[in-house]
Amino acid sequence: MLNKRTIIIIGAGVTGLSTAYRLAKKEAGKIIVFDKGKTGDGSSSRAAGIITGLLWSKTGVEARKVALRLFRELSSELNGYSFQDVGTLNLLDQQAWEQRKLLLPLYEQCGAPFEILTAKEMRTRWPDLYPSGELVGLFDPLGGYSEPEDYLAALKIACNKLGVDIREEEPVKDFVLRSGSIAGVITEKGLIEADAVVSTVYGWTNVLFSRLGLKLPVKTVVHQRYVTEPLHHTMSIPCVNADPFYGYCRPAAGGRLLFGIETSDREEWRVSDMNFHLDDLLRSPDPRYTEAILREKVRENFSSYFPPVKNLRWESSKTGLLTFSMDGEPILGPVTEVPGLFVGVAFHSGGFAYNPVSGLLLAELVTDGKTSVNIDAFSLSRFSNEQTEKYLAQTVQQKNVAKRRH
Ligand SMILES: Cc1cc2nc3c(=O)[nH]c(=O)nc-3n(C[C@H](O)[C@H](O)[C@H](O)COP(=O)(O)OP(=O)(O)OC[C@H]3O[C@@H](n4cnc5c(N)ncnc54)[C@H](O)[C@@H]3O)c2cc1C
Repeated sequence: MLNKRTIIIIGAGVTGLSTAYRLAKKEAGKIIVFDKGKTGDGSSSRAAGIITGLLWSKTGVEARKVALRLFRELSSELNGYSFQDVGTLNLLDQQAWEQRKLLLPLYEQCGAPFEILTAKEMRTRWPDLYPSGELVGLFDPLGGYSEPEDYLAALKIACNKLGVDIREEEPVKDFVLRSGSIAGVITEKGLIEADAVVSTVYGWTNVLFSRLGLKLPVKTVVHQRYVTEPLHHTMSIPCVNADPFYGYCRPAAGGRLLFGIETSDREEWRVSDMNFHLDDLLRSPDPRYTEAILREKVRENFSSYFPPVKNLRWESSKTGLLTFSMDGEPILGPVTEVPGLFVGVAFHSGGFAYNPVSGLLLAELVTDGKTSVNIDAFSLSRFSNEQTEKYLAQTVQQKNVAKRRH
């Protein structure tokens, strides 16, 4: 007998679509996904799509192990999508390495493979890279990247084929509660009843949750990345999380390169309106962080390490938001104040990397009430109301949000 439950997902980014995909595969009931824009209209279509399994917490490492496996499986499940299996190199200066090497026992304990490389070994393996002598490479051989647009398009088709009802340009304006539990949502077309609602609205989470009088300890910051013209010769490089150069790079489709750059002194961005669109970020740019200035910064920072970037022309750029929780770890799980409501947010700069496992875990929570990975460390209830109020009352610069890369 078919399951007659209705499950609503708010947000058709990678987290929402992955949740829908997993729920539909489990035949969990009628699945409806609402987005206020088109699929991928949030940060998902703007992501660099890089993933590493070498994170900072046991829960993070265990969850990413599943994500890395799922990306590989999705390469055969989704038409038009392939995970780019190039590995991810985490570049560290000596000071950062002293901290990072404390995590190696965790990686060993969780079975997350890694290699430690000297500058000379990195040069030998990737002759196009010129890391200076003091840098250490922490290489994740299972890491890599996805082209977000291919991934989103393929996932959307797969969801449609499984019967997921994706309703674009239909914002959710409010929640409906019955005896304190979730009973549905309201869109401009009216009330849609549901047995469970999953919120995956990322940068818009606090605006949406204000309808319930709830606040999450989540900060939102602006982030940008740029793609070059095609290179004259094909380069064989991994994804590189290049903290010493305040950014990252990876190969991109068509023999191009993609670079992301930090803006550490920039203040957080507060989303205060449900109608806010990421393109609004480009309409009145802060003169200190214009595209021209930031692209020049990429050249400056990366040219010793990666000389071709000196002369390459830029072809495209993307600007979006990142969300961070107070302790830097994601928030994923039930919203205990409102039975039937679940949330996935604050994936730092790694929400794309988390998405297959975020979707799996949210689907497990909705259908089984428990998860295959212990995610207590991601629970919303780890924060007290007092901590949340205090955190939200501060205005932070980007350098003060927990340092996490992909
Ligand atoms: C420049 C850049 C580079 C990045 N690079 C990487 C990377 O290399 N690796 C990585 O792992 N991550 C990266 N990220 C982060 C990653 O993009 C995000 O963590 C991820 O896309 C979050 O996905 P999501 O589905 O949770 O949110 P989103 O993609 O933001 O989706 C939220 C959706 O909710 C919709 N929405 C909002 N309010 C409502 C409402 N009321 N009703 C209906 N719909 C609503 C929005 O329209 C949006 O489509 C990057 C981000 C940026 C900006």
